[in-house]
Amino acid sequence: MYNATNSSSRMFRYEVVGLRQNAETDKTDYAIRNSGSQFFNVPYNRMNQFMQQISRWGGKIVSIQPLDGVAAPLAATTEPASNNGAAPVKEKKVDIPVNIYRPNNPCIGKVISNEELVREGGEGTVKHIIFDISGTELRYLEGQSIGIIPAGTDTNGKPHKLRLYSIASTRHGDFQDDKTVSLCVRRLEYKDKETGETIYGVCSSYLNQLQPGDEVKITGPVGKEMLLPDDPEATIIMLATGTGIAPFRAFLWRMFKENNPDYQFKGLAWLFFGVAYTANILYKDELEELQAKYPEHFRLTYAISREQKTPDGGKMYIQGRIAEHADEIWQLLQKKNTHVYMCGLKGMEPGIDEAMTAAAAKNGADWQEFLKGTLKKEGRWHVETY
Ligand SMILES: Cc1cc2nc3c(=O)[nH]c(=O)nc-3n(C[C@H](O)[C@H](O)[C@H](O)COP(=O)(O)OP(=O)(O)OC[C@H]3O[C@@H](n4cnc5c(N)ncnc54)[C@H](O)[C@@H]3O)c2cc1C
Repeated sequence: MYNATNSSSRMFRYEVVGLRQNAETDKTDYAIRNSGSQFFNVPYNRMNQFMQQISRWGGKIVSIQPLDGVAAPLAATTEPASNNGAAPVKEKKVDIPVNIYRPNNPCIGKVISNEELVREGGEGTVKHIIFDISGTELRYLEGQSIGIIPAGTDTNGKPHKLRLYSIASTRHGDFQDDKTVSLCVRRLEYKDKETGETIYGVCSSYLNQLQPGDEVKITGPVGKEMLLPDDPEATIIMLATGTGIAPFRAFLWRMFKENNPDYQFKGLAWLFFGVAYTANILYKDELEELQAKYPEHFRLTYAISREQKTPDGGKMYIQGRIAEHADEIWQLLQKKNTHVYMCGLKGMEPGIDEAMTAAAAKNGADWQEFLKGTLKKEGRWHVETY
């Protein structure tokens, strides 16, 4: 079904390994079988769908070759992959989509829903927004971000610049049909220090008021910092404040809510989530449901600053919880497959640094040295703060 029949469209040859043999894959008319590899010719406009199907079938894309010699619009990185055939193990290419759509050529997403996540008694407004991206070439991985270009012009009459938002859904989208992308957006609101006037952010206000059916300019995806490791046995420590939960919601769905043949999570996911009030715990029901269902594999630790106190009577921020679990976290960090991810407002970084410095010191180590010389060097410390 993916053969080169349309000479007007660009074709790409995919090498795929690890496909399970079942009725579905047997229906596919692949051209060659060789040492566990299968080859598919895919037209440009079917690449998105094809890659999602391969992932569903448990296959791994080893290489993509343009048949007309023109490179595909993909940023490929190298990474070792399993080899189920006799061919020698080589560096395999894994597709990380980036900048499929740029600001001068955005795609159009259509709003499906736009729902408040902050409950009564909470502060501010945060929306979970789902966009229909079917009919576009946009695809993405958990941990990436997309750009939104607000409608209208700035005070100079120029089109607004894009703002980045972490994607809150998995690559398969909230409806698991590969047709949507979701965001978690806090409306920026602050008082001007001089005039006392309330100022609202341009893009976050624009997103906040969108109605189902509205069309939005989307760019991206971007970001390689917050990608999940392939290892399903890994320990994933997630530190989130506020909307920083977005990429972790995607991680947790991928780990626990989806049944991905290529990623059956058996490790430990530990989320530290800092918010002001209980009513501000975004996705609270989802998180607690997963925690109740997978207590062996998912730990959930809240820091609710306006309601909980540290032992010395201070407000409980995320670093307070890290301090409580310092020894355990330190032990986990000694394992080569433990990764730490931090996402949320920039202001969270110094507190975490302080808590980790204390955790390391308790264990006779220097945090900065360990952070730079081990965690960062080994690609196990991932930060996206804004
Ligand atoms: C990688 C990345 C991921 C992101 N992910 C998310 C996400 O998942 N969810 C989310 O909600 N946001 C996210 N953001 C932030 C987002 O991109 C926007 O910055 C945010 O929505 C504000 O944009 P705006 O257009 O509403 O505000 P703007 O109209 O651009 O106003 C922002 C400006 O207001 C001023 N300002 C802000 N606060 C104050 C203050 N307290 N006092 C005085 N001046 C102030 C500053 O000059 C600031 O630059 C992310 C940012 C990055 C870089």
